[in-house]
Amino acid sequence: MSEDFYDVLGVSRDASEEEIKKAYRKQAAEHHPDVSDDENAEERFKKIQKAKEVLTDEQKRQQYDQMGHERFTQADKRGATGGGAGPGGAGGPFGGAGGARGAGGFEDIFNQFFGGGGGGGNRPRQGRDLKTGLTIDLEEAFHGATKEVTLTRPTECDTCGGAGHPPDADVETCPQCNGRGQVQQVQQTPLGRVQQTTTCPRCEGEGELYSEDCADCGGDGVVREEATLSVEIPAGIRSGQSLRMEREGAPGENGGPKGDLLIEVDVDVGDRFERDGDDLRVNEAVSFPQAVFGDTVGVQTVDGTVEMDVPAGTQSGETFRLQGKGMPRLRRRGRGDLYVQVGVVVPESLNDEQREALEAFAEAGGEDIDVGGGFFEKLKSSF
Ligand SMILES: [Zn+2]
Ligand SMILES: [Zn+2]
Repeated sequence: MSEDFYDVLGVSRDASEEEIKKAYRKQAAEHHPDVSDDENAEERFKKIQKAKEVLTDEQKRQQYDQMGHERFTQADKRGATGGGAGPGGAGGPFGGAGGARGAGGFEDIFNQFFGGGGGGGNRPRQGRDLKTGLTIDLEEAFHGATKEVTLTRPTECDTCGGAGHPPDADVETCPQCNGRGQVQQVQQTPLGRVQQTTTCPRCEGEGELYSEDCADCGGDGVVREEATLSVEIPAGIRSGQSLRMEREGAPGENGGPKGDLLIEVDVDVGDRFERDGDDLRVNEAVSFPQAVFGDTVGVQTVDGTVEMDVPAGTQSGETFRLQGKGMPRLRRRGRGDLYVQVGVVVPESLNDEQREALEAFAEAGGEDIDVGGGFFEKLKSSF
């Protein structure tokens, strides 16, 4: 009467979706009421269809594996199984349970099959978000980049499909919570007796006890695995900003979707530039004559060299703004600015010609510098 869906299709419990569909086509062709002589063909055919419907729906199949045939089909008749709810189940039969409280029959069924309301029980839950870090250089932040991140993360155990036990393990209803997954505790407080509902410590909310744990995950349904992911870094990203990779986090529970992976980016700006939001700052050396007479100098930016006019009479330490020559704005058009602080370089040594010219310059300006017996003479004699 209650034949296991896997047996109905004649597939093993770890059959792939492809194998299940193939087996379904074969069985359906054989048992279709139009072609079969069997008087029970129609009933048989319905069973085959039901088996295929459940086993090819990832969420339903997981519930089926966890609940077993008997409990699943009962719950299914009352419309309390997943499917159609989509990943996460929000808005579906599970998410709607809160609203159905007190609606008599439904709540009882809900408690019976899903271990009570609230946060406990076997409701599908999205997995945790995971976090990791990634360092890129300024050029990569400027142009955007595709980078690889390697992390060790919890992943659904392949061996048991996340169930935590071998598919053929014997199962019994948890005697402590009678399968509800939660237990009531009565506490005496100054205000009177307070009833508290907590997750059942014996079955950890599962409502069921299995004779055997999965050898690979020890019953968690989750193993840690190294994964390498390709990350698209958008141009203009700043240190401390995070990229979210959806559904790359920890596995969900009870058929819930995976969490997300958050990648915090650190931009190593290097020695040449300082970054201030989308603006960049850089120091540029000019010679004394360039500062005096003015000149056009080449300033190296992140993506090449731009020309900058240094006006005549520029003072050391003066800052010029090159509009739109900074970093790209993240996911917007335009760029920040590049601030160039000019430093006039004082020569550390002079040849004779330069020295004479400079002495003449000082003299012409009426400056009285004690060059003869002073600094310059000592400098000369030291060579
Ligand atoms: Zn396992
Ligand atoms: Zn229990």
